[in-house]
Amino acid sequence: MTRYSIFSLARNALSHHRNWPRVWRSPPPKPAYDAIIVGGGGHGLATAYYLARNHGVRNVAVLEKGWLGGGNTGRNTTIVRSNYMLQGNAHFYEHSLKLWEGLSQDLNYNVMFSQRGVLNLAHSDGQMESFARRGNAMRLNGIDAELLDRAAVAAMVPLLDCSQKARFPVHGGLLQPRGGTARHDAVAWGYARAADALGVDIIQNCEVTGIKRAGGRVVGVETTKGEIAAAKVGIAVAGHTSQLAEMAGLRLPIESHLLQAMVSEPLKPVLDTVVTSGATHMYISQSDKGELVMGGDLDGYNSFAQRGNLPIIEHVVASVLALFPTFGRLRLMRTWGGIMDMSMDGSPIICKTPLDGFYINGGWCYGGFKATPGSGWVYAHTIANDNPHPFNEAYTLERFAEGYVIDEKGAGPTPGAH
Ligand SMILES: Cc1cc2nc3c(=O)[nH]c(=O)nc-3n(C[C@H](O)[C@H](O)[C@H](O)COP(=O)(O)OP(=O)(O)OC[C@H]3O[C@@H](n4cnc5c(N)ncnc54)[C@H](O)[C@@H]3O)c2cc1C
Repeated sequence: MTRYSIFSLARNALSHHRNWPRVWRSPPPKPAYDAIIVGGGGHGLATAYYLARNHGVRNVAVLEKGWLGGGNTGRNTTIVRSNYMLQGNAHFYEHSLKLWEGLSQDLNYNVMFSQRGVLNLAHSDGQMESFARRGNAMRLNGIDAELLDRAAVAAMVPLLDCSQKARFPVHGGLLQPRGGTARHDAVAWGYARAADALGVDIIQNCEVTGIKRAGGRVVGVETTKGEIAAAKVGIAVAGHTSQLAEMAGLRLPIESHLLQAMVSEPLKPVLDTVVTSGATHMYISQSDKGELVMGGDLDGYNSFAQRGNLPIIEHVVASVLALFPTFGRLRLMRTWGGIMDMSMDGSPIICKTPLDGFYINGGWCYGGFKATPGSGWVYAHTIANDNPHPFNEAYTLERFAEGYVIDEKGAGPTPGAH
Protein backbone atom coordinates (compact mmCIF):
# COMPACT_ATOMS: atom_id res chain seq x y z
CA MET A 1 0.00 0.00 0.00
CA THR A 2 1.39 3.43 -0.92
CA ARG A 3 1.76 6.26 1.62
CA TYR A 4 -0.92 8.18 -0.28
CA SER A 5 -3.46 5.39 0.05
CA ILE A 6 -2.67 4.89 3.76
CA PHE A 7 -3.35 8.61 4.41
CA SER A 8 -6.42 8.49 2.20
CA LEU A 9 -7.71 5.44 4.07
CA ALA A 10 -7.13 7.10 7.47
CA ARG A 11 -8.76 10.37 6.34
CA ASN A 12 -11.83 8.56 4.99
CA ALA A 13 -12.09 6.30 8.03
CA LEU A 14 -12.22 9.32 10.34
CA SER A 15 -14.43 11.56 8.20
CA HIS A 16 -17.77 9.94 9.15
CA HIS A 17 -18.62 9.78 5.44
CA ARG A 18 -18.47 13.59 5.09
CA ASN A 19 -16.93 14.89 1.85
CA TRP A 20 -17.03 11.48 0.22
CA PRO A 21 -17.40 12.01 -3.52
CA ARG A 22 -20.45 10.48 -5.21
CA VAL A 23 -19.61 7.20 -6.92
CA TRP A 24 -22.07 7.98 -9.72
CA ARG A 25 -23.92 11.18 -10.68
CA SER A 26 -27.62 11.56 -9.99
CA PRO A 27 -28.82 13.67 -12.94
CA PRO A 28 -32.41 14.62 -13.76
CA PRO A 29 -33.69 12.71 -16.80
CA LYS A 30 -33.04 14.28 -20.22
CA PRO A 31 -36.06 14.65 -22.56
CA ALA A 32 -34.72 11.93 -24.87
CA TYR A 33 -32.16 9.12 -25.02
CA ASP A 34 -30.95 6.74 -27.71
CA ALA A 35 -31.71 3.84 -25.36
CA ILE A 36 -33.47 3.44 -22.02
CA ILE A 37 -32.88 0.45 -19.79
CA VAL A 38 -35.63 -0.15 -17.24
CA GLY A 39 -34.32 -1.71 -14.01
CA GLY A 40 -31.26 -0.78 -11.98
CA GLY A 41 -30.27 -4.28 -10.93
CA GLY A 42 -27.08 -5.98 -12.04
CA HIS A 43 -28.50 -6.92 -15.44
CA GLY A 44 -29.75 -3.43 -16.32
CA LEU A 45 -26.56 -1.75 -15.15
CA ALA A 46 -24.32 -4.28 -16.92
CA THR A 47 -26.32 -3.79 -20.11
CA ALA A 48 -25.88 -0.02 -19.95
CA TYR A 49 -22.15 -0.42 -19.28
CA TYR A 50 -21.58 -2.77 -22.22
CA LEU A 51 -23.79 -0.62 -24.50
CA ALA A 52 -21.44 2.26 -23.79
CA ARG A 53 -18.18 0.31 -23.67
CA ASN A 54 -18.62 -2.30 -26.39
CA HIS A 55 -20.94 -0.48 -28.79
CA GLY A 56 -20.29 3.23 -28.24
CA VAL A 57 -23.98 3.85 -27.37
CA ARG A 58 -23.54 6.37 -24.55
CA ASN A 59 -26.72 8.43 -24.65
CA VAL A 60 -28.35 5.88 -22.34
CA ALA A 61 -30.43 6.08 -19.15
CA VAL A 62 -31.03 3.39 -16.56
CA LEU A 63 -34.37 3.99 -14.81
CA GLU A 64 -34.81 2.37 -11.40
CA LYS A 65 -38.01 2.64 -9.38
CA GLY A 66 -36.22 2.22 -6.03
CA TRP A 67 -32.50 2.06 -5.35
CA LEU A 68 -29.74 0.27 -7.25
CA GLY A 69 -29.54 -3.39 -6.38
CA GLY A 70 -32.69 -3.23 -4.20
CA GLY A 71 -34.32 -6.02 -6.22
CA ASN A 72 -33.03 -9.53 -6.61
CA THR A 73 -29.46 -8.37 -7.13
CA GLY A 74 -29.26 -7.52 -3.44
CA ARG A 75 -31.38 -10.50 -2.32
CA ASN A 76 -29.68 -13.50 -3.85
CA THR A 77 -27.33 -16.08 -2.37
CA THR A 78 -24.57 -15.14 -4.84
CA ILE A 79 -23.77 -18.54 -6.31
CA VAL A 80 -21.89 -18.27 -9.60
CA ARG A 81 -21.38 -21.32 -11.85
CA SER A 82 -21.65 -22.52 -15.44
CA ASN A 83 -22.42 -26.23 -14.93
CA TYR A 84 -24.91 -26.50 -17.78
CA MET A 85 -25.29 -29.37 -20.21
CA LEU A 86 -27.46 -28.14 -23.09
CA GLN A 87 -25.83 -26.20 -25.93
CA GLY A 88 -28.31 -23.32 -25.64
CA ASN A 89 -27.15 -22.67 -22.06
CA ALA A 90 -23.59 -23.96 -21.74
CA HIS A 91 -21.77 -21.38 -23.88
CA PHE A 92 -23.77 -18.45 -22.53
CA TYR A 93 -23.09 -19.28 -18.86
CA GLU A 94 -19.44 -20.13 -19.52
CA HIS A 95 -18.99 -16.77 -21.24
CA SER A 96 -20.51 -15.18 -18.16
CA LEU A 97 -18.17 -17.09 -15.84
CA LYS A 98 -15.16 -15.94 -17.88
CA LEU A 99 -16.35 -12.34 -17.53
CA TRP A 100 -16.67 -12.88 -13.75
CA GLU A 101 -13.04 -14.00 -13.67
CA GLY A 102 -11.89 -10.58 -14.91
CA LEU A 103 -14.72 -8.41 -13.56
CA SER A 104 -12.98 -6.74 -10.61
CA GLN A 105 -10.12 -5.68 -12.91
CA ASP A 106 -12.46 -4.62 -15.70
CA LEU A 107 -14.62 -2.44 -13.43
CA ASN A 108 -11.73 -1.45 -11.15
CA TYR A 109 -14.10 -2.39 -8.32
CA ASN A 110 -13.69 -5.38 -6.05
CA VAL A 111 -16.72 -7.63 -6.57
CA MET A 112 -15.15 -10.19 -4.21
CA PHE A 113 -15.45 -13.04 -6.69
CA SER A 114 -14.34 -16.15 -4.82
CA GLN A 115 -13.83 -19.33 -6.84
CA ARG A 116 -14.35 -21.68 -3.93
CA GLY A 117 -16.07 -24.35 -6.06
CA VAL A 118 -19.70 -25.45 -6.36
CA LEU A 119 -20.38 -29.05 -5.33
CA ASN A 120 -23.68 -30.77 -6.26
CA LEU A 121 -24.29 -33.79 -4.01
CA ALA A 122 -25.54 -37.10 -5.42
CA HIS A 123 -27.70 -39.25 -3.15
CA SER A 124 -28.30 -42.25 -5.41
CA ASP A 125 -26.58 -44.28 -8.13
CA GLY A 126 -29.02 -42.83 -10.65
CA GLN A 127 -28.02 -39.30 -9.68
CA MET A 128 -24.31 -40.21 -9.97
CA GLU A 129 -24.98 -41.41 -13.52
CA SER A 130 -26.77 -38.23 -14.49
CA PHE A 131 -23.95 -36.16 -12.93
CA ALA A 132 -21.40 -38.17 -14.95
CA ARG A 133 -23.37 -37.33 -18.08
CA ARG A 134 -23.57 -33.63 -17.19
CA GLY A 135 -19.87 -33.53 -16.26
CA ASN A 136 -18.86 -35.19 -19.54
CA ALA A 137 -20.98 -32.75 -21.55
CA MET A 138 -19.44 -29.84 -19.66
CA ARG A 139 -15.90 -31.03 -20.31
CA LEU A 140 -16.64 -31.55 -24.00
CA ASN A 141 -17.70 -27.88 -24.03
CA GLY A 142 -14.44 -26.83 -22.33
CA ILE A 143 -16.12 -26.24 -18.94
CA ASP A 144 -14.39 -27.57 -15.82
CA ALA A 145 -16.11 -30.47 -14.03
CA GLU A 146 -14.94 -33.21 -11.67
CA LEU A 147 -16.96 -36.25 -10.60
CA LEU A 148 -16.13 -37.05 -6.95
CA ASP A 149 -16.78 -40.30 -5.10
CA ARG A 150 -18.01 -40.30 -1.52
CA ALA A 151 -14.51 -40.38 0.01
CA ALA A 152 -13.47 -37.33 -2.01
CA VAL A 153 -16.63 -35.45 -0.97
CA ALA A 154 -16.04 -36.36 2.69
CA ALA A 155 -12.45 -35.10 2.50
CA MET A 156 -13.55 -31.86 0.88
CA VAL A 157 -16.48 -31.11 3.24
CA PRO A 158 -15.54 -32.62 6.62
CA LEU A 159 -18.71 -31.49 8.44
CA LEU A 160 -21.02 -33.19 5.92
CA ASP A 161 -22.56 -36.43 7.22
CA CYS A 162 -21.16 -38.97 4.75
CA SER A 163 -21.79 -41.96 6.99
CA GLN A 164 -23.81 -44.99 5.84
CA LYS A 165 -26.50 -44.24 8.42
CA ALA A 166 -27.16 -40.72 7.11
CA ARG A 167 -30.78 -39.96 6.29
CA PHE A 168 -29.69 -38.88 2.80
CA PRO A 169 -26.61 -41.03 2.08
CA VAL A 170 -23.98 -39.25 0.02
CA HIS A 171 -22.88 -41.27 -3.03
CA GLY A 172 -20.57 -38.61 -4.44
CA GLY A 173 -20.86 -35.30 -6.22
CA LEU A 174 -20.20 -33.16 -9.25
CA LEU A 175 -17.77 -30.32 -8.58
CA GLN A 176 -17.21 -27.22 -10.67
CA PRO A 177 -13.97 -25.88 -9.17
CA ARG A 178 -14.20 -22.49 -10.96
CA GLY A 179 -17.68 -21.81 -9.55
CA GLY A 180 -18.11 -19.85 -6.34
CA THR A 181 -19.63 -16.69 -4.92
CA ALA A 182 -19.37 -12.90 -5.31
CA ARG A 183 -20.49 -9.83 -3.36
CA HIS A 184 -23.89 -8.96 -4.86
CA ASP A 185 -24.14 -5.24 -3.96
CA ALA A 186 -20.64 -4.63 -5.22
CA VAL A 187 -21.65 -5.96 -8.63
CA ALA A 188 -24.41 -3.33 -8.91
CA TRP A 189 -22.21 -0.55 -7.56
CA GLY A 190 -19.22 -1.50 -9.73
CA TYR A 191 -21.27 -1.58 -12.94
CA ALA A 192 -23.05 1.66 -11.94
CA ARG A 193 -19.79 3.52 -11.39
CA ALA A 194 -18.26 2.22 -14.61
CA ALA A 195 -21.39 2.99 -16.69
CA ASP A 196 -21.67 6.47 -15.18
CA ALA A 197 -18.04 7.17 -16.06
CA LEU A 198 -18.89 6.42 -19.70
CA GLY A 199 -21.77 8.93 -19.66
CA VAL A 200 -24.76 6.71 -18.78
CA ASP A 201 -27.41 8.53 -16.70
CA ILE A 202 -28.50 6.46 -13.70
CA ILE A 203 -31.84 7.70 -12.39
CA GLN A 204 -33.17 6.23 -9.16
CA ASN A 205 -36.67 6.66 -7.67
CA CYS A 206 -38.02 6.76 -11.22
CA GLU A 207 -40.71 4.16 -11.84
CA VAL A 208 -41.73 3.34 -15.40
CA THR A 209 -45.52 3.37 -15.51
CA GLY A 210 -46.14 3.06 -19.25
CA ILE A 211 -44.44 2.19 -22.54
CA LYS A 212 -45.20 4.74 -25.25
CA ARG A 213 -45.88 3.41 -28.75
CA ALA A 214 -46.55 5.04 -32.11
CA GLY A 215 -46.69 3.55 -35.59
CA GLY A 216 -46.03 0.02 -34.35
CA ARG A 217 -42.85 0.88 -32.49
CA VAL A 218 -41.66 2.14 -29.14
CA VAL A 219 -41.11 5.88 -28.81
CA GLY A 220 -40.43 6.25 -25.09
CA VAL A 221 -41.66 5.66 -21.56
CA GLU A 222 -43.96 7.28 -19.02
CA THR A 223 -42.41 7.57 -15.58
CA THR A 224 -43.03 9.07 -12.18
CA LYS A 225 -40.56 11.78 -13.30
CA GLY A 226 -42.42 12.51 -16.54
CA GLU A 227 -42.26 11.25 -20.11
CA ILE A 228 -38.91 10.36 -21.64
CA ALA A 229 -38.45 9.68 -25.34
CA ALA A 230 -36.26 6.85 -26.61
CA ALA A 231 -35.86 4.95 -29.86
CA LYS A 232 -35.04 1.78 -27.95
CA VAL A 233 -36.34 0.53 -24.59
CA GLY A 234 -34.97 -2.60 -22.94
CA ILE A 235 -36.42 -4.04 -19.75
CA ALA A 236 -34.33 -5.87 -17.12
CA VAL A 237 -36.76 -5.90 -14.21
CA ALA A 238 -36.50 -9.49 -12.88
CA GLY A 239 -39.73 -10.29 -10.96
CA HIS A 240 -41.73 -7.63 -12.84
CA THR A 241 -41.04 -8.69 -16.44
CA SER A 242 -44.63 -9.72 -17.16
CA GLN A 243 -45.94 -6.39 -15.80
CA LEU A 244 -43.58 -4.27 -17.94
CA ALA A 245 -44.25 -6.43 -21.01
CA GLU A 246 -47.98 -5.97 -20.47
CA MET A 247 -47.44 -2.19 -20.67
CA ALA A 248 -46.10 -2.84 -24.17
CA GLY A 249 -49.05 -5.09 -25.06
CA LEU A 250 -47.15 -8.38 -24.75
CA ARG A 251 -48.21 -11.45 -22.75
CA LEU A 252 -45.28 -13.60 -21.63
CA PRO A 253 -44.96 -17.31 -20.73
CA ILE A 254 -43.82 -16.37 -17.22
CA GLU A 255 -45.16 -16.97 -13.70
CA SER A 256 -43.95 -15.00 -10.70
CA HIS A 257 -43.10 -16.85 -7.48
CA LEU A 258 -41.29 -16.04 -4.30
CA LEU A 259 -37.85 -17.49 -3.49
CA GLN A 260 -36.60 -17.24 0.08
CA ALA A 261 -33.13 -17.39 1.60
CA MET A 262 -31.73 -17.17 5.11
CA VAL A 263 -28.54 -16.79 7.12
CA SER A 264 -27.36 -18.15 10.45
CA GLU A 265 -25.47 -16.19 13.04
CA PRO A 266 -21.79 -15.81 12.06
CA LEU A 267 -19.27 -18.46 13.02
CA LYS A 268 -15.62 -19.19 12.35
CA PRO A 269 -14.72 -20.59 8.90
CA VAL A 270 -16.20 -24.10 8.61
CA LEU A 271 -17.27 -24.44 4.98
CA ASP A 272 -15.02 -23.33 2.14
CA THR A 273 -17.12 -24.38 -0.83
CA VAL A 274 -20.73 -24.11 -2.00
CA VAL A 275 -22.70 -27.33 -1.36
CA THR A 276 -26.02 -28.06 -3.04
CA SER A 277 -28.36 -31.01 -2.72
CA GLY A 278 -31.17 -31.14 -5.26
CA ALA A 279 -32.68 -34.27 -3.74
CA THR A 280 -33.12 -32.62 -0.34
CA HIS A 281 -33.93 -29.11 -1.66
CA MET A 282 -31.12 -27.13 -0.06
CA TYR A 283 -27.91 -25.30 -0.77
CA ILE A 284 -25.44 -23.75 1.62
CA SER A 285 -22.26 -21.68 1.65
CA GLN A 286 -20.45 -19.54 4.20
CA SER A 287 -20.20 -15.81 3.64
CA ASP A 288 -17.03 -13.81 4.27
CA LYS A 289 -18.76 -12.48 7.42
CA GLY A 290 -19.06 -16.06 8.69
CA GLU A 291 -22.83 -16.50 8.28
CA LEU A 292 -24.10 -19.71 6.73
CA VAL A 293 -26.15 -18.69 3.70
CA MET A 294 -28.96 -21.16 2.90
CA GLY A 295 -31.79 -21.55 0.46
CA GLY A 296 -33.99 -24.11 -1.24
CA ASP A 297 -37.10 -24.27 -3.37
CA LEU A 298 -39.75 -21.70 -4.33
CA ASP A 299 -42.83 -20.90 -2.32
CA GLY A 300 -45.40 -22.84 -4.33
CA TYR A 301 -47.96 -20.11 -5.04
CA ASN A 302 -47.76 -17.16 -7.42
CA SER A 303 -47.00 -13.87 -5.69
CA PHE A 304 -45.47 -10.42 -6.09
CA ALA A 305 -44.79 -10.18 -2.35
CA GLN A 306 -41.18 -10.09 -1.18
CA ARG A 307 -41.73 -12.22 1.93
CA GLY A 308 -42.60 -15.88 2.18
CA ASN A 309 -44.00 -18.49 4.51
CA LEU A 310 -42.56 -20.62 7.29
CA PRO A 311 -42.88 -24.15 5.80
CA ILE A 312 -40.17 -23.44 3.19
CA ILE A 313 -37.81 -22.16 5.87
CA GLU A 314 -38.46 -25.24 8.01
CA HIS A 315 -37.90 -27.48 5.00
CA VAL A 316 -34.54 -25.88 4.13
CA VAL A 317 -33.35 -25.95 7.73
CA ALA A 318 -34.41 -29.60 8.16
CA SER A 319 -32.46 -30.54 5.03
CA VAL A 320 -29.38 -28.63 6.18
CA LEU A 321 -29.48 -30.36 9.55
CA ALA A 322 -29.92 -33.79 7.97
CA LEU A 323 -26.73 -33.21 5.99
CA PHE A 324 -24.80 -31.13 8.55
CA PRO A 325 -25.97 -32.29 12.01
CA THR A 326 -23.39 -30.11 13.81
CA PHE A 327 -25.15 -26.94 12.61
CA GLY A 328 -28.09 -27.81 14.87
CA ARG A 329 -26.85 -25.51 17.64
CA LEU A 330 -26.76 -22.41 15.46
CA ARG A 331 -29.46 -19.77 15.49
CA LEU A 332 -31.13 -18.52 12.33
CA MET A 333 -30.55 -14.78 12.13
CA ARG A 334 -32.38 -13.40 9.11
CA THR A 335 -34.67 -14.51 6.27
CA TRP A 336 -35.86 -12.65 3.17
CA GLY A 337 -37.34 -13.23 -0.25
CA GLY A 338 -37.34 -12.00 -3.84
CA ILE A 339 -39.68 -12.41 -6.79
CA MET A 340 -38.68 -14.93 -9.43
CA ASP A 341 -39.83 -14.79 -13.02
CA MET A 342 -40.25 -18.47 -13.81
CA SER A 343 -40.09 -19.11 -17.54
CA MET A 344 -41.80 -22.29 -18.70
CA ASP A 345 -38.58 -24.13 -19.64
CA GLY A 346 -36.34 -22.80 -16.86
CA SER A 347 -34.17 -20.79 -19.29
CA PRO A 348 -34.13 -17.02 -19.75
CA ILE A 349 -35.55 -14.79 -22.47
CA ILE A 350 -33.12 -12.23 -23.99
CA CYS A 351 -34.38 -10.92 -27.30
CA LYS A 352 -35.99 -8.20 -29.34
CA THR A 353 -39.76 -8.46 -29.43
CA PRO A 354 -42.43 -8.17 -32.13
CA LEU A 355 -42.75 -4.51 -31.07
CA ASP A 356 -39.94 -2.57 -32.80
CA GLY A 357 -37.54 -0.93 -30.37
CA PHE A 358 -38.70 -3.03 -27.39
CA TYR A 359 -36.38 -5.65 -25.88
CA ILE A 360 -36.77 -8.20 -23.09
CA ASN A 361 -34.28 -9.57 -20.60
CA GLY A 362 -36.09 -11.77 -18.08
CA GLY A 363 -37.29 -15.20 -17.02
CA TRP A 364 -34.19 -15.83 -14.89
CA CYS A 365 -35.94 -18.29 -12.60
CA TYR A 366 -33.75 -19.16 -9.62
CA GLY A 367 -30.41 -18.20 -11.03
CA GLY A 368 -29.76 -14.93 -12.86
CA PHE A 369 -27.08 -13.51 -10.58
CA LYS A 370 -24.39 -15.73 -12.10
CA ALA A 371 -25.54 -14.59 -15.52
CA THR A 372 -25.18 -10.87 -14.76
CA PRO A 373 -22.05 -10.06 -16.82
CA GLY A 374 -22.93 -12.41 -19.68
CA SER A 375 -26.52 -11.21 -19.76
CA GLY A 376 -25.48 -7.55 -19.93
CA TRP A 377 -22.95 -8.40 -22.65
CA VAL A 378 -25.38 -10.18 -24.99
CA TYR A 379 -28.36 -7.90 -24.22
CA ALA A 380 -26.28 -4.83 -25.10
CA HIS A 381 -25.28 -6.56 -28.34
CA THR A 382 -28.92 -7.37 -29.13
CA ILE A 383 -30.11 -3.80 -28.44
CA ALA A 384 -27.23 -2.16 -30.33
CA ASN A 385 -27.43 -4.39 -33.41
CA ASP A 386 -31.09 -5.45 -33.44
CA ASN A 387 -29.75 -8.98 -33.69
CA PRO A 388 -28.87 -11.52 -31.01
CA HIS A 389 -25.32 -12.34 -30.02
CA PRO A 390 -24.52 -16.02 -30.82
CA PHE A 391 -24.74 -16.80 -27.08
CA ASN A 392 -28.37 -15.65 -26.73
CA GLU A 393 -29.64 -16.83 -30.10
CA ALA A 394 -31.68 -19.58 -28.43
CA TYR A 395 -33.24 -17.32 -25.75
CA THR A 396 -36.14 -16.22 -27.94
CA LEU A 397 -39.81 -15.73 -27.15
CA GLU A 398 -40.76 -17.72 -30.25
CA ARG A 399 -39.33 -20.92 -28.79
CA PHE A 400 -42.37 -21.29 -26.55
CA ALA A 401 -44.68 -21.23 -29.57
CA GLU A 402 -42.43 -23.41 -31.75
CA GLY A 403 -41.54 -25.97 -29.09
CA TYR A 404 -37.74 -25.55 -29.32
CA VAL A 405 -37.50 -25.11 -25.55
CA ILE A 406 -34.23 -25.26 -23.58
CA ASP A 407 -35.49 -27.49 -20.82
CA GLU A 408 -32.60 -27.76 -18.36
CA LYS A 409 -34.32 -27.59 -15.01
CA GLY A 410 -32.02 -30.03 -13.24
CA ALA A 411 -28.89 -27.88 -13.26
CA GLY A 412 -29.35 -26.11 -9.96
CA PRO A 413 -29.58 -26.69 -6.25
CA THR A 414 -33.18 -27.83 -6.31
CA PRO A 415 -34.86 -30.16 -8.82
CA GLY A 416 -36.40 -27.33 -10.78
CA ALA A 417 -33.66 -24.88 -10.12
CA HIS A 418 -31.19 -22.83 -12.01
C1 LIG B 1 -33.43 -15.61 -2.39
C2 LIG B 1 -32.79 -15.60 -3.75
C3 LIG B 1 -31.65 -16.34 -3.97
C4 LIG B 1 -31.04 -16.34 -5.22
N1 LIG B 1 -29.86 -17.01 -5.38
C5 LIG B 1 -29.21 -16.95 -6.55
C6 LIG B 1 -27.91 -17.52 -6.67
O1 LIG B 1 -27.36 -18.06 -5.70
N2 LIG B 1 -27.31 -17.48 -7.87
C7 LIG B 1 -27.88 -16.89 -8.94
O2 LIG B 1 -27.28 -16.92 -10.01
N3 LIG B 1 -29.08 -16.27 -8.84
C8 LIG B 1 -29.76 -16.29 -7.68
N4 LIG B 1 -30.97 -15.65 -7.55
C9 LIG B 1 -31.56 -15.00 -8.73
C10 LIG B 1 -30.95 -13.62 -8.99
O3 LIG B 1 -30.98 -12.86 -7.82
C11 LIG B 1 -31.68 -12.87 -10.10
O4 LIG B 1 -31.93 -13.70 -11.21
C12 LIG B 1 -30.87 -11.68 -10.58
O5 LIG B 1 -30.32 -10.96 -9.50
C13 LIG B 1 -31.73 -10.79 -11.41
O6 LIG B 1 -31.04 -9.58 -11.63
P1 LIG B 1 -31.78 -8.39 -12.33
O7 LIG B 1 -30.81 -7.29 -12.47
O8 LIG B 1 -32.45 -8.91 -13.55
O9 LIG B 1 -32.97 -8.05 -11.33
P2 LIG B 1 -33.12 -7.08 -10.07
O10 LIG B 1 -31.88 -6.97 -9.30
O11 LIG B 1 -34.36 -7.48 -9.37
O12 LIG B 1 -33.32 -5.68 -10.78
C14 LIG B 1 -34.54 -5.31 -11.39
C15 LIG B 1 -34.85 -3.89 -10.97
O13 LIG B 1 -35.97 -3.42 -11.70
C16 LIG B 1 -36.65 -2.50 -10.89
N5 LIG B 1 -37.99 -2.29 -11.42
C17 LIG B 1 -39.04 -3.14 -11.42
N6 LIG B 1 -40.10 -2.56 -11.99
C18 LIG B 1 -39.72 -1.32 -12.37
C19 LIG B 1 -40.38 -0.22 -13.01
N7 LIG B 1 -41.68 -0.29 -13.36
N8 LIG B 1 -39.68 0.91 -13.24
C20 LIG B 1 -38.36 1.02 -12.89
N9 LIG B 1 -37.70 0.01 -12.26
C21 LIG B 1 -38.36 -1.13 -12.01
C22 LIG B 1 -36.61 -3.16 -9.51
O14 LIG B 1 -36.81 -2.21 -8.49
C23 LIG B 1 -35.24 -3.80 -9.48
O15 LIG B 1 -34.28 -3.01 -8.81
C24 LIG B 1 -31.61 -15.61 -6.31
C25 LIG B 1 -32.75 -14.85 -6.08
C26 LIG B 1 -33.33 -14.82 -4.81
C27 LIG B 1 -34.52 -13.95 -4.57
